[in-house]
Amino acid sequence: MAVTEQRSEKRVALVTGSTSGIGRTIAMRLAEDSFSVVFHSKSSVAAGQTLAAAYPSSSYFQADLADQNQTCGLISDVLARYGRLDVLVNNAGISAAIPHTSLKEASPEIWRSLYDVNVIAPWTLIAEAETALREAASPERPSCILNISSHAGVRPKGASIPYAVSKAALNHMTKLLALNLAPLIRVNAIAPGLVDTPMSRDWTAAQTLWAERSPMGRGAQPEEIAQLASMIVASHYLTGEIIISDGGLHLT
Ligand code: NAD
Repeated sequence: MAVTEQRSEKRVALVTGSTSGIGRTIAMRLAEDSFSVVFHSKSSVAAGQTLAAAYPSSSYFQADLADQNQTCGLISDVLARYGRLDVLVNNAGISAAIPHTSLKEASPEIWRSLYDVNVIAPWTLIAEAETALREAASPERPSCILNISSHAGVRPKGASIPYAVSKAALNHMTKLLALNLAPLIRVNAIAPGLVDTPMSRDWTAAQTLWAERSPMGRGAQPEEIAQLASMIVASHYLTGEIIISDGGLHLT
């Protein structure tokens, strides 16, 4: 992917799916950490433009990450605007709620749609961004890829088996790429438990579980995941880690 002549002085972070929920708070936090932030969504154009306008040198781009051409185009758009990319946060994701015992309900179409957005889109974005991420990096300050997976990719839990498997694939991709893109590009993942976002609003069983069983006695607020993301982005030696942030539920 060619990089433009006009190279931004400020470091640039792209956060996918950043007009709502976890992605929105991560993008806002990175803007406060002095990055030029690229907000992105599939469809919420007005919300994305409003967010970008609130932070100097930030932008908004629309792309459906289930579409391979639009996914590649997102990286081209970022490089055409800034001439560099330092941080890629693969946050956009979809879920499907299906009882784990209802195997036929988990159709091949559902498997494919979850894989398209949760696995193949992050892979495509990383492949398209690799050259730019290397060019922006130095040994003292490697570039950073951060994947937002799920505790369901670590434990045999989650909204459905296809969702959990897609997040387990993203976790394994994280480790394989950490090994192969080092030392100039670091790759880590956050595996959240329950987080209070539009995606989880009607997950009543999970809300009860976190209230009654997790050591912290509640799910997370998106800002608490954004704080962890900011720490990971700033931790220049950290790579290959899947950091579970589930209020300690995995200990029970
Ligand atoms: P959310 O629904 O607010 O955010 C999901 C984002 O992904 C949205 O901005 C949406 O536009 C984007 N997206 C979905 N399909 C897309 C597509 N085809 N093209 C482009 N963008 C697309 O939910 P959230 O809870 O903030 O989810 C963010 C990430 O966190 C997801 O990957 C999700 O799997 C993960 N996660 C969430 C929870 C939780 O409890 N909320 C728990 C574990 C993991």
